[in-house]
Amino acid sequence: MGRRGSGYAASVLLSALAIAGTAEVIGAADPPTAEDARAFIEESEAKLLKLSVDASRASWVQSTFITDDTEILAAQANEKLIAASAEDAKKAARFASLSLSPEVSRKIALLKNSLTLAAPADPKKSEELTRIAAALEGAYGKGKYCPPGKECLDLEEITKIMAESRDANQLYDVWQGWHTIGPPLKPQFERYVVLANEGARELGFADTGAMWRSKYDMPPDALAKELDRLWEQVKPLYVSLHAYVRWKLREKYGAVVPADGPIPAHLLGNMWAQDWGNIYPLIAPAGADPGFDLTAILKSRKTDPLQMVRYGEGFFTSLGFDPLPKTFWERSLFTKPRDREVVCHASAWDVDTVDDLRLKMCIDITAEMFSTIHHELGHNFYQRAYNKLPYLFRDSANDGFHEAIGDTIALSVTPEYLVKLGLLDKAPDASKDIGLLLVRALDKVAFLPFGLLVDQWRWRVFSGQIAPADYNRTWWELRRKYQGIAPPQPRGEDSFDAIGKYHVAAGVPYSRYFLADILQFQFHRGLAKTAGCTGPLNRCSIYGNKEAGAKLNRMLEMGCSKPWPDALAVVTGSPTMDANALRDYFAPLQKWLDEQNKGKAVGW
Ligand SMILES: [Zn+2]
Repeated sequence: MGRRGSGYAASVLLSALAIAGTAEVIGAADPPTAEDARAFIEESEAKLLKLSVDASRASWVQSTFITDDTEILAAQANEKLIAASAEDAKKAARFASLSLSPEVSRKIALLKNSLTLAAPADPKKSEELTRIAAALEGAYGKGKYCPPGKECLDLEEITKIMAESRDANQLYDVWQGWHTIGPPLKPQFERYVVLANEGARELGFADTGAMWRSKYDMPPDALAKELDRLWEQVKPLYVSLHAYVRWKLREKYGAVVPADGPIPAHLLGNMWAQDWGNIYPLIAPAGADPGFDLTAILKSRKTDPLQMVRYGEGFFTSLGFDPLPKTFWERSLFTKPRDREVVCHASAWDVDTVDDLRLKMCIDITAEMFSTIHHELGHNFYQRAYNKLPYLFRDSANDGFHEAIGDTIALSVTPEYLVKLGLLDKAPDASKDIGLLLVRALDKVAFLPFGLLVDQWRWRVFSGQIAPADYNRTWWELRRKYQGIAPPQPRGEDSFDAIGKYHVAAGVPYSRYFLADILQFQFHRGLAKTAGCTGPLNRCSIYGNKEAGAKLNRMLEMGCSKPWPDALAVVTGSPTMDANALRDYFAPLQKWLDEQNKGKAVGW
């Protein structure tokens, strides 16, 4: 599904890993004018649009028909797009001192901020950085743990063991085994930091971390403060959840889990302890069964994949959105083909950035897929809503918004919604909510501190505040501080555990996932209010409400043409992010957790 590590495959350069090539000195003789800037941007948009459509078509074919050739063709098309965006970002720097129209000036900023990796002007260094970036990501992808005398395990196999095993020794073994990929990569990572910073400075940023933080319509340091403020809002809920889960894990695993300290990182069902959904059976309260099984209902009705997608489309048309275009139904991939390799991971596409919308997923008839379809179509309807804007504005308001919209829609998949669809006769009563809320909290609330700390660590690495000799110590200090998680055994500087996370190895910024987790509840609360829902937020669905749909559309159709606080205000009435919406949503769970935690240690 679309979160944290996948996402919508928009054909916009903003999501591309852009490697800036060598800097050029252009037009040094004549000082440029505002008219030059306007003409430059117009030309650049036309060129990038064309390259992005080419790259999307090549990627689509590659993802739905994996061969050596389609992989090469897709990589080539992508490289062209990335190189052109990077080149134009550098060229645009010469207009920096001019007084430009708000539109042109915003487009230049978007172009400049589209880079996640800026290579230095020195061609040798640029080549070295490009090579290292690819090598780090490649090493992660090929990473394996080979237990002595046994067959090697790749991350997919290790992930399955982390999710399913209840044997603390086995969990520890694969946990430490996966992290053996780290130490050999440390010298390259150090070099990557140095070179990436050099490139960022040439573009006028203090360092790469500051470059990443510059995408949010506020000064880089203001963003860091803003994220801390949001974390403080949600922290009491996380601490309560942590205490309850620690107690349940101690019942299961005994003294290996301390009564009042941090939880060992290998026992939470996930390699990074970032999503605890897999241990729900260990912590499920008695009588929390919601009393219905959507998977079984869908299967007993012989629902097919096409019907599943029709349900998703029906959600959006009920809000007043136009039905999906005919080509969507002709060109999408809904089932796993029998005769060729495809990327089954769900993603939503807009191949021509106008209305060539497509969904690519291998649909099984399950409750999870039912929700994922709603999430993915959220991306598609967002993409179509902003398709009339100039090319550089065809993206979400900030990078947290796209994922947040998909998830906002999925939050409306409530029992009441299923009743309206005729899939369920009657919604369970509120006493059954704790189980549903707990499942959701193990995913959304448990993730928050991790979503925050990955970039807390990287920003300090890029700024030099964390030296290479302290990489591992500081990583675990942050994990302890925010997550209340500790390594199963002491880890020294001969380990390099941060790079055992994909986004660190691949150089992908991470704050967007934290933002998406906060924003979706704020969107949900705002839209539920518009729809007139007065009950508990977790029971509100905006299904069928045209007024909420119109409001949502007003935000979506802004794309990234305006600073994101303007877009946020359309749906929520306020330009400020507010994590209290998440607290409101989980309020019944907070109350229940506090009761469970009475007399027990809370915090670490
Ligand atoms: Zn998504």
